[in-house]
Amino acid sequence: MTTLSVIVALALAAIGAVAGSYLGRRALRGHILSATAASEAAESALAAQRQDTREHLQVQGLILESMDDGVLLFDEEGSTVFANRAAEALLETAPADVGSLLPLDLQKAVQRAGYVGSEQRAEAEIGTPSRVLRATATPAGSEGAVLLVVRDVTEALRIDLVRRDFVTNASHELKTPAAAIQAAAETLSTVVDEDPSAVPRFAHQLQRESLRLSRIVADLLDLSRLESGSQSSEPVRLDAVVREECSRSADLVRDAGITLTINAGAVPPVLGSARDLALLVRNLVDNAIRYTKSGGSIVAAVDTSDDQVILTVRDTGIGIASRELPRVFERFYRVDRARSRETGGTGLGLAIVKHVAENLGGSVNVQSELGSGSTFEVRLPAYAPGP
Ligand code: ADP
Repeated sequence: MTTLSVIVALALAAIGAVAGSYLGRRALRGHILSATAASEAAESALAAQRQDTREHLQVQGLILESMDDGVLLFDEEGSTVFANRAAEALLETAPADVGSLLPLDLQKAVQRAGYVGSEQRAEAEIGTPSRVLRATATPAGSEGAVLLVVRDVTEALRIDLVRRDFVTNASHELKTPAAAIQAAAETLSTVVDEDPSAVPRFAHQLQRESLRLSRIVADLLDLSRLESGSQSSEPVRLDAVVREECSRSADLVRDAGITLTINAGAVPPVLGSARDLALLVRNLVDNAIRYTKSGGSIVAAVDTSDDQVILTVRDTGIGIASRELPRVFERFYRVDRARSRETGGTGLGLAIVKHVAENLGGSVNVQSELGSGSTFEVRLPAYAPGP
């Protein structure tokens, strides 16, 4: 049974209960006139019926009031006979009748449902900032009463749009290296006979693009795993993770001609997945290396304050313009697309960092100045085992 059909059943039951008790009372009155002997029994039956009806209506009212969907019932005259709290909140006011129901598309749907006698659907925007309401108007009974159910679908539509954008972006990101691999492979098969000296160049291109493709796929898999929350949870020492990840990057740091200093004393553990925390640190350190020119420096520090463990990765790199800062944690957002690609970026590193931090109840933020460098700060709740 759908939510709508439950609501329709409740509304019809409510109408039926009221009508039933009215008709019941009339019939009983006839009996009382004609058979006074039965009057006591009839009175008590009537009282029991009234009590029943009251209880039914109370339960129905409770259900309708606790719903997130707005529910309104209009009688055959178009007057509002019922509107729950959610309806008032969604429509910004409870209309006295169909004529004062806004947005207009909803009003038309109710009028049409009453007139045509079949279910009508409508979608309309309301308020500032604008919200999208989706409504279903259903005839309630045969007399022209109409039940209107209203739902706020703003967030659902936003998530849907983000998902669709993501699929488009991901397909586009995968298509580029896939096309480059195909082109390199085709050229390779020709130059093998015609110009063997060109083989290493195309073989290298093939290798580079397939590496890029597998990096994107690996990041996408990490991201999708993180979106369903961190699986394992254990006390993890972030200072140890930072030392481990920085030592993994030692060759990269040396090749880039920069210095990497670790500033990590013993700090309380954080509760999370060691694998995810390593991913977080690796992405921040990796970015600092990739966006810092030769001669620059990076400091990775772990500290503690107010029951939080704080990781900062500070670099003297190219920095990020202030207008770009709010967007760098978005999936596939890059300030300089060409530079990101050149240095093996996927555009997903900071989205992964944000997911890991938030999954563990923490946060990440960035401060940066164009040309001077950036500081990424991750705050995570310190793990304090019970006594
Ligand atoms: P990418 O793989 O492109 O580095 P990220 O999600 O890791 O993707 O980062 C998003 C963008 O933020 C990067 O393309 C880059 O423009 C910017 N960025 C990230 N870290 C730094 C940094 N340490 N210094 C300067 N810019 C950075």
